[in-house]
Amino acid sequence: NTFDKLGLSAELVRAVAEQGYSTPTPIQSQAIPAVLAGGDLLAAAQTGTGKTAGFTLPLLQQLSARRLSGRRHPIRALILAPTRELAAQIGDSVTAYGRHLPLKSAVIFGGVSCVPQKAALRQGVDILIATPGRLLDLHNQQCLDLRQVEILVLDEADRMLDMGFIHDIRRVLALLPASRQNLLFSATFSDDIRRLADGLLNRPTVIEV
Ligand code: AMP
Repeated sequence: NTFDKLGLSAELVRAVAEQGYSTPTPIQSQAIPAVLAGGDLLAAAQTGTGKTAGFTLPLLQQLSARRLSGRRHPIRALILAPTRELAAQIGDSVTAYGRHLPLKSAVIFGGVSCVPQKAALRQGVDILIATPGRLLDLHNQQCLDLRQVEILVLDEADRMLDMGFIHDIRRVLALLPASRQNLLFSATFSDDIRRLADGLLNRPTVIEV
């Protein structure tokens, strides 16, 4: 297993092996060390390239390396996705790769009852995976606090813009602390994506696979 050569912890290497992966994909080989180094990332990657593990694995490691004391679980990582299907899929990856780590995650998206999502948030969540509209909705209802977010991921950012989420994204960004790590994944690099990236990312590592 060559995932350990990328700097991942034993718990994560074990979880990856349990998924049956033996070799990192090209995006994983590039993204994992870059995210572990702490900088921002701009990645052009289609679905099927292994991009989800490319950001999930180093994100889990960053959070577990900076362990918080006590039993508080502020939201420390926020992953935004365009659709409930993608959000749910990312949530499943976070659960699978994080199974040997003491981090909690939750997935929130629109079109379903808020009640179970609010209950999950009350339990304390380290990693929140969300679609933008429901995230703002629950924030407006004071069900979540994003002021401790250390890592922000925008997945399939081009689809989020195509679906008209730019204003929601900007509203979410205004709720986050200024000092944080930002990872932006997009299948395509339109002018709108470049504009978003220019405003969001600080000297990012750029990956195209
Ligand atoms: P993604 O592009 O993140 O949607 O991942 C596409 C599929 O590839 C998912 O089903 C993953 O479980 C799988 N996958 C991700 N990384 C690897 C890997 N290193 N080796 C084999 N399969 C992988």
